[in-house]
Amino acid sequence: MKTPFNWQCAFCGQTTTITSPNFDEQFHRIETSLSNHGDIGVLVAAIACPNTECAELTLSVGLMKAVRQPGLWVSGQALRVFPLLPRSRAKPQPSYIPASIRADYEEACLILRDSPKASATMARRCLQGIVRDFWGIPQNRRGNLGAELNYIREELTPDTWDAIHAVRSVGDIGAHMEKDVNVVVDVEAEEAELLVGLIETLLSDWYVERHKRTERNRALKELAERKLSQKREAKTKSAAIGANDGQKGSQDIS
Ligand SMILES: [Zn+2]
Repeated sequence: MKTPFNWQCAFCGQTTTITSPNFDEQFHRIETSLSNHGDIGVLVAAIACPNTECAELTLSVGLMKAVRQPGLWVSGQALRVFPLLPRSRAKPQPSYIPASIRADYEEACLILRDSPKASATMARRCLQGIVRDFWGIPQNRRGNLGAELNYIREELTPDTWDAIHAVRSVGDIGAHMEKDVNVVVDVEAEEAELLVGLIETLLSDWYVERHKRTERNRALKELAERKLSQKREAKTKSAAIGANDGQKGSQDIS
């Protein structure tokens, strides 16, 4: 039995401690050692999300070195890990982010390992969608991402500006590839991963923060309204008591 470990579900985002009923791991030795990998096996690992509203299955297969121990073979060093479920590293994004932006982000994540260049292009497209939607670029100012970025330049911190610029220029490598087939600039998976990470930062810094701010302001407004109506109620009550006292007073006199 494996010792409990901390884990974050990629489907629902919840962090939790995983214990054995929600976890399974099995090693199967491959009965040939004639490939250039030598003694190998596969390690199948499965986690069922304990959040009952989610209950998604996280599944991966690892190609492992097989290590001989007295009477059995056990899993050694990982040579490669193949995540099967979920299909990518995409983090769940809230539904108040437009569906087209979430779809571009998820696709950039999905093709990241197999085609970093296509992933970078998709991250760039996602960036343009975010800039247009979040900053409300008017129709007559839309077109070229560079011009759209200049339109909002004053609004951005130098840090954000540099980060966005990186996504744009690396994404351009993929997007304009067809124009000159002799120019071959490759995008590594690690670089594409950085771009996806920047998209995640923008989604969180802009959309999530704005949503939180709106919610906070709404709660404050409700609180102010509640206090005001409580004050009004108290005033009416005290006026009513005052009127009653007045009546009592007049009764006492008579
Ligand atoms: Zn979950």
